[in-house]
Amino acid sequence: EEIELISFCDQIAQTFRRTGHREIKLQSEVKEIQAMTIPGKLEQVLVILLDNAIKYSDSGIEIMIKREMDDIFISVKDQGPGISPEHLPHVFERFYRVDSSRARKTGGNGLGLSIARSLVESFHGKLGIESEVGEGTVVTIILSHRILI
Ligand code: ATP
Repeated sequence: EEIELISFCDQIAQTFRRTGHREIKLQSEVKEIQAMTIPGKLEQVLVILLDNAIKYSDSGIEIMIKREMDDIFISVKDQGPGISPEHLPHVFERFYRVDSSRARKTGGNGLGLSIARSLVESFHGKLGIESEVGEGTVVTIILSHRILI
């Protein structure tokens, strides 16, 4: 299905702004990005990423959308505690949780990111993560070669 990504992301962010009482900025250099994707699955992925950003940080969240050639990047950025380099490669594994005390406090099973990655791969995209302890975390959905215009 062809959708306009910026308004699609903004609609999802809007429900989190209301219920999560958190500022969520949407940033894009262009006004519209049309893409071929599976909206229900993309929504599930964004919900998992926004859920984590809200759960693990207490400041503002940013969604950044950009297009470079045939690739579309949708990033969810938070200014939370970040994830240390020894844990970072494992966060997409099922049931992996970084810090048991933090994990106990926030709840969850360590499934969100592994589900998100499977969903993104099911529509031929990629899911990446960058994180810096004390700075925050950026999780990026890359949709490849799915652009119509
Ligand atoms: P759930 O199954 O409810 O999603 P979860 O949040 O523990 O539980 P994942 O989403 O897979 O599971 O995340 C795995 C681990 O990665 C988390 O336990 C957390 O330690 C770490 N993590 C994920 N996102 C962030 C983030 N934005 N900032 C800091 N740590 C994160």
